[in-house]
Amino acid sequence: MEKPRTERNTKWKKNYNIDEIKYTKLDLNRDMFYKKPYSCNYWVTHRCNSKCDYCNVWRDPSLKKIPDAKLEDVKVNLVDLKKLGVKFIDFTGGEPLLNKDLPEMLKYARELGFFTQLTNNGSLYPQYAEEIKDSVSQLSFSFDTLDRDEYKRIRGIDNFDNVLKSIKIAKKLKQNICLICTVTNETVDNLPDIVRFCKENKVVVFIHPIFTYFEKKPLKKEYVNQIKKYFWHPYVRVDLSDLDFYAHGGNDINNPRCKAGKSVIAISPDNCLFVPCFHKAVKKIKINGRLYSLYHSDEWKQLFDKAGRYDFCQGCNIPCYLGASPLDKIDRYFFKELLSFGKVQLERIRS
Ligand code: SF4
Ligand code: SF4
Repeated sequence: MEKPRTERNTKWKKNYNIDEIKYTKLDLNRDMFYKKPYSCNYWVTHRCNSKCDYCNVWRDPSLKKIPDAKLEDVKVNLVDLKKLGVKFIDFTGGEPLLNKDLPEMLKYARELGFFTQLTNNGSLYPQYAEEIKDSVSQLSFSFDTLDRDEYKRIRGIDNFDNVLKSIKIAKKLKQNICLICTVTNETVDNLPDIVRFCKENKVVVFIHPIFTYFEKKPLKKEYVNQIKKYFWHPYVRVDLSDLDFYAHGGNDINNPRCKAGKSVIAISPDNCLFVPCFHKAVKKIKINGRLYSLYHSDEWKQLFDKAGRYDFCQGCNIPCYLGASPLDKIDRYFFKELLSFGKVQLERIRS
């Protein structure tokens, strides 16, 4: 029989003294100098109601068997992440709103002072908007086209009107919205319309090239340069350093830039660490309430020592594991990373 909600919600407190945790709001200036690790990509489900052309999540039969993240596990891990100094949690999936406990997870993460990001496809947001409005620091909707038919072709479902409705509701609720525009060789011509839409509606869009981890063709160099041209446009976020990195061929296994397991921790719905990352997990390690101690163990070093150095890491261009902070590493991308970070803050103020 399912336990009463109140009992389930307080079980974690027996093991953790919440008063020991320092509650802080995200201070962007101070956090440029953050201590590692900085962010966590938290997969709360692998289920999805979309069938995006460039994604394998809905195609992979092994992911279908994995249950959604449990509220109790998430709470325990969030406390440990807080103790580790993590500032930013991206709740992702699949479609994260398919996990019925997500509103509670978001609320708890905000109570602990995390900057919370919810990346979703806009199909379920309208029914959760009111409930989660105070728990999401940044609300991200996937948005690649203004053409209803093309949307259906790219995403495999007829959800275009719902996305527009979601944006409208989120604006009305004064949410911090960021549309995520993934550019492919086929959709690059949509950029002028997308940028115009965002200016007219005063909504920020993050434009980035398609990752190549699902054996998709990389964006052509001339198109990468096309994205760069939008850098100074109002309501546009473009990471110049990530684009340079992409154009230069991505990660170099002899001088890796990947921060998987160092700055960025990736957790699966079945309460495991992805080692080294979700996209190329060679193994999964059960967390079982020991995230904090595991992070400080030699085992962790061994698990993530090869992140960015595996053969399959050559050419990797997944930004989720790269640019957590402009001051993480001073290299050839440093100044553009800093400039891009500054532009993000400008758009934050503008919107
Ligand atoms: S919405 Fe996201 S997880 Fe779902 S199929 Fe599309 S890209 Fe994949
Ligand atoms: S460089 Fe390797 S470990 Fe890092 S994100 Fe890419 S595939 Fe994963």
